[in-house]
Amino acid sequence: MSFQAPKGTFDWLPPKSEQILAVRAALAQPVRQAGYGYIETPSFEDTELFARGVGESTDIVSKEMYTFPDKAGRSLTLRPEGTASVVRAVLQHNLHTGQLPVKLWYSGSQYRYERAQRGRYRHFWQVGAEALGAEDPALDAELIVLAARGFADLGLTQVELLLNSLGDKVCRPVYRAALQDFLRGLDLDDDTRARIEINPLRVLDDNRPEVRAQLVGAPLVVDHLCAPCKAYHEEVRALLTEAGVAFTDDPRLVRGLDYYTRTTFEFVHGGLGSQSAVGGGGRYDGLSEMLGGPALPSVGWAVGVDRTFLAMEAEGLLGETTEARVQVYGVALGDDARRRMFLLVDEVRKAGISADMAFGGKGLKGAMKGAGRSGARFALILGERDLAAQAVQLKDLTTAEQTEVPLAQVVDVLKGKVQ
Ligand code: AMP
Repeated sequence: MSFQAPKGTFDWLPPKSEQILAVRAALAQPVRQAGYGYIETPSFEDTELFARGVGESTDIVSKEMYTFPDKAGRSLTLRPEGTASVVRAVLQHNLHTGQLPVKLWYSGSQYRYERAQRGRYRHFWQVGAEALGAEDPALDAELIVLAARGFADLGLTQVELLLNSLGDKVCRPVYRAALQDFLRGLDLDDDTRARIEINPLRVLDDNRPEVRAQLVGAPLVVDHLCAPCKAYHEEVRALLTEAGVAFTDDPRLVRGLDYYTRTTFEFVHGGLGSQSAVGGGGRYDGLSEMLGGPALPSVGWAVGVDRTFLAMEAEGLLGETTEARVQVYGVALGDDARRRMFLLVDEVRKAGISADMAFGGKGLKGAMKGAGRSGARFALILGERDLAAQAVQLKDLTTAEQTEVPLAQVVDVLKGKVQ
């Protein structure tokens, strides 16, 4: 019997796995450059953290969490998203009592028991950034600009930014009530009717044509924003415009998590089919209090690394990975030569040149094949006779030119050739 990765999960293998590392690094680079510090939190937390932090009424909490009791009977959950854990860590370690905003970024896998399809997995990777403890439209705009820069740095040109405001604890309840009034008058199934009472904004997210058709005249949150929320939103829009980041106002953008207030945004890509969101985020002014902390107005985003990769594929940005795996490849014949090559290859590496060698006692032909496959420009060939002469054959695999170099000088010679 052979095992398969669990449904909804997959493996990243070389050479594509090199590209996914590069995508993660590129998404993180702009926030690192803006002074965000790296945070790593556990991949499982107290179930209650997500129940309270993400919201009982969300799909994530009600249907998608990997929850299990540990051996002591505690209920733990594999993290479905990063923000609740970051806020938990900030409160636990009192980071919010120092300089504000606390700026943090993370990179890690998330777990959601979703209906698996292309672009939607049960185990996926996000890079995220959070700025906690400041209510300032420039901070919202900064985070959006930095996410957009990550996409742009990867060469993506078809990422679209959708922007909305969800109001705050003053105007959101008024809007919520108006929306509920409207929705109660529609012809909807029982599940959707139940959702009107628990989380009416989510009904706006419904993609079924028969529901969409009825939502045409639904009240929009933009028309219900209180004056401070409106001014805040206008400032975010103005800053983005000045920064040259294009956006589309999307008054129906609500997003799936309960904790958002004011600014919400999503980055979508046209080449991804139904799972079009490559990233999203917003302001979550009430989350800290929901977790038992003080008021800590905050904003953040998470970008889906796997989906960003798919977006790059859709734009033809990945190409073949022809990049050399190593620069130098050692081929040794005979036990003594092999032992010496083992040390020589390590010396080459210590000099900052990437190197590999043939393992498994292959003959010259097999070993040279390995050299070819490794992508190396140079092979170092060491036979018993070379060893006796304290020399090594340096072969340029692109020209097949071969020269003998004293063992004591080969690292310096290579340095001159590859750097
Ligand atoms: P969310 O945490 O739901 O706001 O998602 C943020 C980003 O993570 C989305 O825009 C997607 O790019 C990515 N994402 C969310 N869920 C999944 C999933 N099941 N599989 C792959 N990527 C996902």
